[in-house]
Amino acid sequence: MKKQNVPELFGSMVFDDRVMRARLSDKVYQSLRKTIDENEKLDEEVADAVAKEMRDWAVEKGATHFTHWFQPLTGVTAEKHDSFISPSPDGGVIMEFSGKELIKGEPDASSFPSGGLRATFEARGYTAWDPTSYAFIKDHTLCIPTAFCSYSGDALDKKTPLLRSMQALDRQAKRILKLFGKNVKYVRTSVGPEQEYFLIDKEMFEKRPDLVYTGRTLFGAMPPKGQELDDHYFGVIKPRVSAFMEDLNEELWKLGILAKTEHNEVAPAQHELAPIFSTTNVATDNNQLTMEIMQKVARKHGLVCLLHEKPFAGVNGSGKHNNWSMATDEGANLLSPGETPYENAQFLLFLCAVIKAVDDYQDLLRLSVATAGNDHRLGANEAPPAIISVFLGDELSAILEAIKTDTPYQGKEKEVMKLGVHTLPRFSKDTTDRNRTSPFAFTGNKFEFRSLGSSNSIACCNIMLNAAVAESLRQYADVLEKADDFASELHELIKNTIKDHERILFNGNGYTDEWVKEATEVRGLSNLRTTADAMPHLLDEKNKSMLMDHKVFTESEIQSRCEIMLENYCKTVNIEGLTMVDMVRKNYLPAIESYLFELAQTTSLMTSVSSKVKCEYEITTMERLSELTDFIMKKVVVLEKALKDLKNSATILETSEAVRDSILPKMEDLRRYVDEAEMLTGEKYWPFPSYGKLLFSVY
Ligand code: ADP
Ligand code: MG
Repeated sequence: MKKQNVPELFGSMVFDDRVMRARLSDKVYQSLRKTIDENEKLDEEVADAVAKEMRDWAVEKGATHFTHWFQPLTGVTAEKHDSFISPSPDGGVIMEFSGKELIKGEPDASSFPSGGLRATFEARGYTAWDPTSYAFIKDHTLCIPTAFCSYSGDALDKKTPLLRSMQALDRQAKRILKLFGKNVKYVRTSVGPEQEYFLIDKEMFEKRPDLVYTGRTLFGAMPPKGQELDDHYFGVIKPRVSAFMEDLNEELWKLGILAKTEHNEVAPAQHELAPIFSTTNVATDNNQLTMEIMQKVARKHGLVCLLHEKPFAGVNGSGKHNNWSMATDEGANLLSPGETPYENAQFLLFLCAVIKAVDDYQDLLRLSVATAGNDHRLGANEAPPAIISVFLGDELSAILEAIKTDTPYQGKEKEVMKLGVHTLPRFSKDTTDRNRTSPFAFTGNKFEFRSLGSSNSIACCNIMLNAAVAESLRQYADVLEKADDFASELHELIKNTIKDHERILFNGNGYTDEWVKEATEVRGLSNLRTTADAMPHLLDEKNKSMLMDHKVFTESEIQSRCEIMLENYCKTVNIEGLTMVDMVRKNYLPAIESYLFELAQTTSLMTSVSSKVKCEYEITTMERLSELTDFIMKKVVVLEKALKDLKNSATILETSEAVRDSILPKMEDLRRYVDEAEMLTGEKYWPFPSYGKLLFSVY
């Protein structure tokens, strides 16, 4: 690939502000800007003008098609391409693209999950342009980021509720800022998602049906070496991986994605990519694109990028850290401690709003990251536990404690903290970011939600986070707008929040058993260990009413989402179970049989030659392997039956409980015996590449 200069390359495939400003008339540009910044309705004339320039620009860049690009509830992105061509009277074609086509699309969407929202007679949904996320060109196609709804207006995607949640937060945050004398145009949440992934050799990948069908290994004995030496984390990047990263960066930069940091992660073959943060809906679009392009670029390098949360047992899985903050249109970060006492009070209020939100809606945050894949990580001593808590660091905790108890803060001032009077110290990153076991950590000027799985869309957790914080802010604004003495009411509010919600604050080690005990038994925090446990809480009255009050979801959207997520959990595990059965019957058992045959033949041959030959190795190995094949067969039959029985459950909730209580333990049980057999069987007999080969073969 021709090396290009990065500033020139960056965003070259994006219809971004630079392009808009250069190509659109002043009037059209201003009017589009107003739509982008202030949510104003776009009129048809402007849409036509924008569409025309978009088309010309895209055609100049070699595009032949356009698509409304959207994020249905499958969790991946969807696109249906239409070419620009339109017949002209002379028998040729012209390239056409109208404002109408830009604003609205009508994909036949009957096969996307809707959880019963869309009756089959009304299969069509429609997509609507999201002008706040720039259009871009990918594979000769102009992609227009859109939201996806049914004709009755129900959201069928992840983007619509995300945009609604951003609006909810914007509304409430502006009420608060007004009380501090600030009239801002908007408040937006920003996100920088750190993406973890594995890279393995494509040839090895293709030999493993479990990886091909499910994205994770369902069998595999541990190799002699795992991650215990910590020699991979931040280690020198291998040439093949580095070539991949170089290519990936270029592709991402072309799409205007701010790919910034890359490094090796803890597990062998594991890596991370972090972009510079951007507005949440843009960050969401960009993260979806990043995941897609990672997979595409990997293939070009003879590699496969695994985004599954737990591709390998015994080494770390992959997550995604959702760094989150709120900022005004002037760029003021609302989670940044201020320079003046007055600004500090505002900072503390927004900080408290988040603390309260996380405590009040722990279950929503937990379920927003719940998937079959992520269940393997949470609570597995490598990722935050399924219990949600907030880490603030010692300094900030001490300040809050001082406020709560009206006692002197032991910082440099040693005075009673009175809001609106004293300046808070600046928190350096060093003092706030030492704890890696916390699911929700304050890191100086943002919160980092660490429970997301690597393949999760970041939309879900940000919907819940935005909505929950909007609710805290609404409650605060309701009180403060009526206050006679603003400063003292503010002080009370902050103090009470700390008192009421201190149970969610925890600076200690989240991996210990003591914490689980304390969190659940003493503090009463929720510990929703699996998707089957967490997801039904979406329907809890308090959660439903909050989400509906802020117009983030309608009741039927909530119902349908709960159903779809549980269905997804059950289907995922069902496929895994079936894959295990398939691999055992068709490959593992026959492979062990071949080895047994060889051992048996050898034994009988050798003992017939000399009576002194004992064949101890052959015989003990045969005995154990033969025992194992019997166990394996029994376990397969049991698993097969349990999988069939799933169909008898009356509700999806019941099915999900059966998956949790019956299928998953049976799968684990089966695996154990197969993995033991792997350790006893000659390598050339074993039908699939071992963990050692999968994890250590890329140089
Ligand atoms: P780490 O967590 O690995 O120490 P950094 O602190 O450098 O990494 O940043 C992690 C992510 O947080 C980056 O994507 C960065 O852009 C993002 N980030 C920084 N400031 C903000 C903010 N105000 N809002 C959202 N994300 C932010
Ligand atoms: Mg991080």
